[in-house]
Amino acid sequence: MSKIIVIIGPPGAGKGTQSRLISEKYGFPQISTGDLLRGIASTDTTLGNELKRVLDTGNLVSDEILAKVLLERTSSQDCLNGFVLDGYPRTIPQAHLLETLAGQQGKAIVLLRIAIDEDLLMKRLTGRATCSRCGEIYNTYFFPPRVSDICDIDGAPLVRRGDDRPETVAHRLAAFRAKTEPLIAYYSQSGRLIEVDGSREVDEVFDLICQLINGDAVIRKQMTDTSG
Ligand SMILES: [Zn+2]
Repeated sequence: MSKIIVIIGPPGAGKGTQSRLISEKYGFPQISTGDLLRGIASTDTTLGNELKRVLDTGNLVSDEILAKVLLERTSSQDCLNGFVLDGYPRTIPQAHLLETLAGQQGKAIVLLRIAIDEDLLMKRLTGRATCSRCGEIYNTYFFPPRVSDICDIDGAPLVRRGDDRPETVAHRLAAFRAKTEPLIAYYSQSGRLIEVDGSREVDEVFDLICQLINGDAVIRKQMTDTSG
């Protein structure tokens, strides 16, 4: 049965990496609702012009339009065996709409949550430093340079991104928690959310995810009509 992969996880949990690995192994396209909307908004069509107006005014695109766009994109041939969602669903109404879509397309939803300790997450995100010359990436906690703030390869100074500051990262994590808590609670109650330990190495996490995708840890969504 073809599958819709939903991965929920805070920034720094490795969501993007895992999505890419799944996409490569299974040939599932990665569908980002943000990219999708921006792409359509750049076309000279009725929907494109409507979307451009909404995006230009800084308003949120309605769930209805988002669902329509998603249905259209995922009805194409490359999504036949499955696809990986990026940035969707974010709310409970969107989760309902996704279930309707899964029913329409006869796909099963695989719900994965990458769970990770916030201390570890803070170290991963705030420890990042990049060489200003060659781009080599270090982490002051897990992969420090031999000399503090100096690249091992070429001796150039390492730079940190402004948004990697502890207070900024803490704020991003808190915002993520507040935003996704209702969705996580909703999915947890349904008993379908599968937790993956995000503190493990990338390939270990990926092996586990593959087992879940291949296995029977997937609960098939019955054909339902929630559109009322
Ligand atoms: Zn360097």
